[in-house]
Amino acid sequence: MTLHSANRHAPRRSAAPGLQHDRIYIDGTWTEPESAASIEVTDSTDERTLGRAPAASAADAERAASAARRAFDAWAGTAAAERALLLRSAAAHLAARRGELADLISRETGMPRPQSLAVQVDLPLSNLDEAARRATGGAAEERIGRSLIVREPVGAVGCITPWNFPLHQSVAKAAFALAAGCTVVLKPSEIAPLDAFVLTEAIAEAGFPPGVFNLVTGTGTEVGEALATSPDLDMISFTGSTAAGKRVAELAARTVKRVALELGGKSANIVLDDLDDARLELVITDAVRRAYGNSGQTCTALTRLLVPEHRLRQVEAIVTEAVAALVVGDPFDEGVDLGPLASAAQRDRVQEWIRIGSAEGARLVVGGLGAPTGRERGFYVRPTVFSDVRPDMAIAQEEIFGPVLSILTYRTEDEAVAIANGVRYGLSGAVSSLDPGRAERVARRLRTGQVDVNGAPFNPRAPLGGYKESGIGREYGRYGFEEFLEIKSIQR
Ligand code: NAD
Repeated sequence: MTLHSANRHAPRRSAAPGLQHDRIYIDGTWTEPESAASIEVTDSTDERTLGRAPAASAADAERAASAARRAFDAWAGTAAAERALLLRSAAAHLAARRGELADLISRETGMPRPQSLAVQVDLPLSNLDEAARRATGGAAEERIGRSLIVREPVGAVGCITPWNFPLHQSVAKAAFALAAGCTVVLKPSEIAPLDAFVLTEAIAEAGFPPGVFNLVTGTGTEVGEALATSPDLDMISFTGSTAAGKRVAELAARTVKRVALELGGKSANIVLDDLDDARLELVITDAVRRAYGNSGQTCTALTRLLVPEHRLRQVEAIVTEAVAALVVGDPFDEGVDLGPLASAAQRDRVQEWIRIGSAEGARLVVGGLGAPTGRERGFYVRPTVFSDVRPDMAIAQEEIFGPVLSILTYRTEDEAVAIANGVRYGLSGAVSSLDPGRAERVARRLRTGQVDVNGAPFNPRAPLGGYKESGIGREYGRYGFEEFLEIKSIQR
């Protein structure tokens, strides 16, 4: 991402015409932002210019917030069936552009194209459908003594999203907020804002009333902070780094907004001591996949592998073989497991973490500094594994957000749980054992919002969210919908 303050008519480089955006969407209209500044979006696969989006100002954000405010009462009063119909119509418009979206998001984020289609496009489509279902399902009313407890939409909501699963994150917020009867201002990441224009076009084509959904692209410090402080918004739903989430929460406190935060993670994958050799091989091979999904640019990535001390050499041998079998390459080539990272800045941050790991005394088992051979162009990083990692090392404490796996050892189950819980994050985790009951008992001791037992797959209807500094609130399914509802007691 590069910021340009050049005028609107400056000549542009190689970006496809369809990816050149100079307008934001406010009050049902594609409108010129206050300033002509723009964000140049880079193709992660070859470092060329992919497209452009406006770098809108705080005043633009405020304009969008007041449009959302004005539209709220009428939208909150629409029949749930109408909201559901509009969400399904938006989904149909998006579905008609599945291939185009998968191509675009692979270029924005670096994810291999087949995975993009399934995760970056089909998952949000399924969430749009789920949001429509939730709208008509409503929220149950309850009686407590003489009181009737009702649920109402929370109001106008600012949604601020990251770049790693850009469309998915936008939909996980906006679709559920709209379903609940809230109006929305979406501010996507400046690293990957282009797919949000496709989403907005689908919403516009579906015919949502003016002001119900607004798109403002720009930086976090300008547009994001303006939304967090806006008196016109009742809630901020934020996904991103813990540092930015803390800033958003501080700013939102000035107007006592509700805040939902989906932040970073440093999740542990605990391999218990009862696995036989065959099962250990399966579990460790899967552990590599669960650490490196989306090249490690995943908030729930299981980046700390906790293994019994006496199995360490065996684990290292399996990990080495599993990593050697991974194909790192162009997301559009067949059979590729890992593409590049989304940006030069992220690639450089990950390189710095690899340097820090070695400097702290961790032992490099595979990978290391530099790009994979032949992948000097594009933001590629070598899949890297450190062993002899102590729980207090920075690489065991901090989120790296790249393909870097740390192996730690433990002697007792209690020690494994203490190491797993010994970080400021609490987003996800995993436990493997031949005894599912034992694995579940350990899962209950982890202070995290999710835990996968024995290789269980991701469930998009189950709530996702963090304990501790991984966040506040939950997304997806019923819990994600209820985030956007207020509670009222009517005494009778
Ligand atoms: P980031 O914090 O840099 O940016 C996220 C969004 O916040 C962007 O839209 C950015 O413009 C905006 N932003 C940045 N500073 C801001 C500020 N001061 N005020 C308001 N908005 C601001 O994060 P990123 O690098 O885009 O994404 C990676 C991070 O997101 C990782 O830490 C990852 O763990 C986290 N993440 C969490 C989840 C989850 O569900 N918990 C999901 C995906 C990503």
